[in-house]
Amino acid sequence: MSDCIFCKIVSRDIPADIIYEDDMVVSFKDLEPQAPVHILIVPKKHIKNLNTAIPEDKDIVSHIMVDVVPELAKKLKIADDGFRLVVNTGVKGGQTVDHLHFHLIGGRSMQWPPG
Ligand code: IMP
Repeated sequence: MSDCIFCKIVSRDIPADIIYEDDMVVSFKDLEPQAPVHILIVPKKHIKNLNTAIPEDKDIVSHIMVDVVPELAKKLKIADDGFRLVVNTGVKGGQTVDHLHFHLIGGRSMQWPPG
């Protein structure tokens, strides 16, 4: 998607502090961190959000949940203390960038319910 900011990060057309990449995803630091550790994990494929993911996207989503998140949590030293994984979806879900992304947040205690 030519006007998608996260597609432009994936293609390196705009800069980001990239901390991980493989054939399916890119992960980079959030521009406005809400905790000592706040990174985004983004599929290279443009998927708007979980509402528009299709069965073929299962491999990407499960790769993020099962492989990438635990690996990055360990690498960023938030695995043992715990962390939060957030997928804002749609307007009322607080999604501001229409490219599926997983917020991996840690390094402090979290509150519940979220705002
Ligand atoms: P959302 O509100 O769940 O859609 O999250 C979008 C996130 O993207 C926010 O936390 C923003 O701070 C972050 N963000 C927006 N633009 C950039 C960027 O260019 N680099 C890194 N993070 C960004």
